[in-house]
Formats: sequence, structure tokens, C-alpha cells
Amino acid sequence: MNPYLYTVPVFFLMIATEYWVSRIRGRDLYRFQDTVTSLNAGLVSQFINIMGGAFSVYMYSLLVGQFSLLSWDTSQLWVWVFALVLYDFCYYWVHRAGHEVNLFWASHVIHHSSEEFNLSTALRQSATGFYFKWVFYFPLAVLGIPTQIFVVVALIDLLYQYWVHTQLVGRMGIFERFLVTPSNHRVHHGQNDYCIDKNYGGIFSIWDQLFGTYADERPDEMVIYGVRKPLRSWDPVWANIQHYFVIGRLVRASRSWHEKFMCVFGPPRSPAHLEAVGEAPFRAAEFVSFSTPYTSRMKHIGAASTIFGTFMLMLLYLVAPRLSIWESLAYSFLMLGFFSFIGRLWVRPSMMGSTSPRFQ
Ligand SMILES: [Zn+2]
Ligand SMILES: [Zn+2]
Repeated sequence: MNPYLYTVPVFFLMIATEYWVSRIRGRDLYRFQDTVTSLNAGLVSQFINIMGGAFSVYMYSLLVGQFSLLSWDTSQLWVWVFALVLYDFCYYWVHRAGHEVNLFWASHVIHHSSEEFNLSTALRQSATGFYFKWVFYFPLAVLGIPTQIFVVVALIDLLYQYWVHTQLVGRMGIFERFLVTPSNHRVHHGQNDYCIDKNYGGIFSIWDQLFGTYADERPDEMVIYGVRKPLRSWDPVWANIQHYFVIGRLVRASRSWHEKFMCVFGPPRSPAHLEAVGEAPFRAAEFVSFSTPYTSRMKHIGAASTIFGTFMLMLLYLVAPRLSIWESLAYSFLMLGFFSFIGRLWVRPSMMGSTSPRFQ
């Protein structure tokens, strides 16, 4: 049974709770289009990762079969805890590569494309990371961590990261030193100068402390969320693939093979890259978040798309074991077309008719 069958309702319940608590406290944390895009991006990632996840697990099991040096008593709790800590260490490097290698940034950028920061932002997960991430867990395979432990600790690591996407929890004192918390993860999502390439941890922030990538949230500087080259779209499929097109354009425009190589495997923030993609220097006072007008009819269509998409995902979880890989692919790609269509409706001039209020 797919564990997401149970977690998806919990995610939605927590989002509803955060929304109402923020309203009671007089905070304005949700914008309607942004929230629908985040939720639909979460669904898009699941429609792909139902197969991508299976691919990653299969590749990991091949690595274990070929390279494992040790065997473990899986009935011992400490073995699971050790595997979780080691997994989180590898996750730190996956995540760091996702920010510091342009090709991998193309996969991860969607998680940072929201200009809001709330529990729905956590669900903006990549649909294209499955092809490379498993390579980073090679050390676990060499140590012989069995595939079933790998799958469980991967799920724990991912689920832990959900709750840290909130502005309702302040600093957590001593916990900031060794755990990923809402405060230090807010820094990770910031585009302020001091936030760039900081706080890559999954569960533990000790890796950031060890490798010099840790930054505390500054009480005197408001965090501006999002990326410096804004997505400016509500299409969750485009959000997943747009940076691959940027890299393609950069490679075509490069003159030497070295330059082409650096466009793909160099850092996303090299001066040549920033110039080519037209990324402006950061000025907090000038920041205006992306928004487009929409009608109440569009609002209903957006909400209905998320409800329908969630239903279709639950159905896929249930029937996937009986479908061929081609049937699953066809099902998922039809849904991707649907989400892309909905996302593009938001910016159709004929659908305009009101300002873009926050979630109300
Ligand atoms: Zn990140
Ligand atoms: Zn995040």
C-alpha cells in the first residue's frame, strides 16, 4: 500500500489548520494562485514519482547487490537510526548539489519557485530529480544498508521536512544548533544575499554547521522568499522543466566545450550565467511578488483542479499495481497535460476580471 494514501489527507488538514491559525493571528500567509500551483505541483511530482521513486529504489537495490560490504541485523533499532543519520548526511549533499550544479538546480528550482512560504510550499517537489539522486546514496549501499531500510528512512527524512515550511513557528533556541527548523529553513528559501546557498540539511542542521553553509535567520532583515529569476507562471509542469530550457539556451550560446560543460555542471550563479539569464541584483525594497488578475470562476476551476487531481492520484495509487508501465505513463501524462492547461488558464487575458487577492 502506498504510504502517501495516508499522508496526503494529513498534509491537506495541516494546510487548512495553518491557514486558519494564520488568519486568527492576523497574518496573511496564503495567496490563492500560489497555493493552487504549489498543491498541483505536489500532485504533478507524485504522478511522475510513482514511477520515478520505483526507479530510484530499483537502482539502489542494484547498488546494494553489487557493492555492499557489510550485513546488518535489521531487528536492532540503532541500525535504523544509524541509517537515518547517514541518509540525512547524503541528503545534505544531494540538496547542496541541487543548488550548486546547474543541471541539478534545473530539477530542484521548482521547490524554490514560490514567493510565499507556508505548508503548501513544502509540496512543490521536483518531478525530475529521480534520475540522479539515487547516485548520492552510494555510501549507504556500500555499507550494505538494506533496501527496505533505505526506503523507510528516505520517507521519514522527506516527511520531517514538511512541517518546517511555516512562518507560524519562531526560533527554537538550542534546537537550531542541530535540527532543521522552520526558522533556519526560512533562510534556505530566502533570496536575500545572506540566504543564498545556505541551510541544505534535511533533518539535521549539523551538516551545515560542519561544512560552513549554516546561517541563522536575522531578526532585523525580513526574508523575501523565492528565486532571483522568478518563474512568473502558474503552470506546475513548466515550473519543472523551464530551467532545462535555460541550460539548453546557454549551451547553444557557448563558444567552447569548456564553457558548454560549465553551463551544465558549473554553479547556477556564475557571472556568465547570471548575465545570460538576465538575473537582476537583489533589492528587497523593490521586490514585487508575481500575481495575475483572475475571476471568481477561475478560482473555482483552480480549486476543483486540485480536488480532481487528488482524487485521480489516489485512484492511481490503488490501481497502479495492476497497470503496465505504459498504462501508468499514459495516465500520468494525461494528468500533467491537465495541470499545465489549468495553470495556463490563470494568465489568459480573456479570463481576467478582478485583482489578485490573497487567499480568501
Ligand atoms: Zn533547496
Ligand atoms: Zn523547503
